[in-house]
Amino acid sequence: MAKHVTHWIGGKPWTGTAQRQGEVFDPALGTLSGHVDFASEADVDTAVAAASAAWNSWRTSTLSLRSRVLFDFRAALLRRREELAAVITSEHGKVLSDADGEIARGLEVVEFACGIPALLKGGFSESVSTQIDVTSIRQSVGVCAVITPFNFPAMVPLWFAPVAIACGNAVVLKPSEKDPSAAVLLAECWAEAGLPDGVFNVVHGDAVAVNRLLTHPEIRAVSFVGSTPVARHVYETGTSHGKRVQALGGAKNHMVVLPDADLDAAADAAVSAGFGSAGERCMAVSVVVAVDPIGDDLVARITERMARLRTGDGRRGCDMGPLVTAAHRDKVSAYIDAGVQAGAKLVVDGRGGDVDGSSDGFWLGPTLFDNVPPEASIYTDEIFGPVLGVVRAPTFDQALDLVNASPYGNGTAIFTTDGSLARRYQSEVEVGMVGINVPIPVPAAAYSFGGWKSSLFGDTHAYGPDGVHFFTRSKVVTSRWPRTTAPHAQLDLNFPGNR
Ligand code: NAD
Repeated sequence: MAKHVTHWIGGKPWTGTAQRQGEVFDPALGTLSGHVDFASEADVDTAVAAASAAWNSWRTSTLSLRSRVLFDFRAALLRRREELAAVITSEHGKVLSDADGEIARGLEVVEFACGIPALLKGGFSESVSTQIDVTSIRQSVGVCAVITPFNFPAMVPLWFAPVAIACGNAVVLKPSEKDPSAAVLLAECWAEAGLPDGVFNVVHGDAVAVNRLLTHPEIRAVSFVGSTPVARHVYETGTSHGKRVQALGGAKNHMVVLPDADLDAAADAAVSAGFGSAGERCMAVSVVVAVDPIGDDLVARITERMARLRTGDGRRGCDMGPLVTAAHRDKVSAYIDAGVQAGAKLVVDGRGGDVDGSSDGFWLGPTLFDNVPPEASIYTDEIFGPVLGVVRAPTFDQALDLVNASPYGNGTAIFTTDGSLARRYQSEVEVGMVGINVPIPVPAAAYSFGGWKSSLFGDTHAYGPDGVHFFTRSKVVTSRWPRTTAPHAQLDLNFPGNR
């Protein structure tokens, strides 16, 4: 039976007023599996009103209650982990083990947020002046919008909502319309955990919902993850409406391989990070920079590993699933044509290969280009598919210059056994997340996730200490409690100094 995905407002499913719906597909079958409601502006207003009302009491909830709810949310997620992974695979297409992997990384952020009593400790200075003490506290911001992309339908919402809620805020999540069901399952987990109704809400839809959230007077903060043009729009619109905004954008991640590297480890890493989730990861490796003279050897090792990959239905134990939609598959396929025309050498062509799945699925096999010219669109654009390009660089310095010339700065990796070059790379590369012999350096939950340049608009990264900072406002209280025998303060119109 075709499913019907509805909003979640005030602690329960909510059918909106909108007349518009989107289609939801099973990418491995290539079939329409259901429809998702698209919120009107009025639907968004209803969700924000529910969140606002809930925030008024949640903001004063005790830290021990918040911590308990977070622990119970973690337990609910663990109970429903298999179900959630199956939902992700059925709408996104990524293989089941990879869907489970994104839940695992999301759970790490939930575990981080369980420690909220320690994370919200303030500061206190006794006697900064005569009989004057200073206290700093962090308080919630209000109703926070979280707008997320299709490629991590569980993990990216979990980067933000647990931290926002633990900090005493209410959340309105607008997930991707392409795979909306995971967000509803997360809402059910929050309800099972005893989170008061209205603290976590979901509205589905497209730009209409997003733009209303960006301009709604009661939305105080916006966390966005998606492509760079939309991230820029979200940042500019949200900030011009007085909101704090963190908008994470697209990427083009380079993996530099130095001649002294363990080439088998580097080839394993390039294939895993290039084709995992069919390249639909913001931290996917999309460019391998082979520093002379190891290019031919590295390409041979990568090619040999690619021949062993099984593309197919994520429910059948394959290595790589389909792309999310037919339109996206066609767009990525067109990039392969463009790469050939631009003079890159097509080493492995993923079009029309063997597939373990329905012939109607949105398939494109792993594709490898060598000698990619830096002006080719397969080098300059974020492709977001299973297309890996190799470029050659004569020296370490030229490899570093190439990476730093990219307008993106999300993630990068270097493979080497030379500690001093690795150290120079980590110091001089203009990228927010760096891996040394680690191809996908997603920071652990106690750190923060975010890129530089066109990969992030704003100044705070996701989760970790930056997350707590983003979802709280700081207040400083200066207090005087004079001894009763002390003389009363006298009139003094000078600027207050310390004595
Ligand atoms: P997208 O930008 O198309 O969509 C992201 C969100 O914005 C969705 O909720 C969508 O409904 C909404 N949206 C789309 N167009 C809009 C518009 N014109 N106005 C207002 N809202 C709009 O991104 P996507 O295709 O869902 O996800 C893939 C992109 O996300 C890639 O570029 C990838 O690199 C990026 N991404 C970045 C990170 C990161 O941490 N930097 C993480 C994951 C994904």
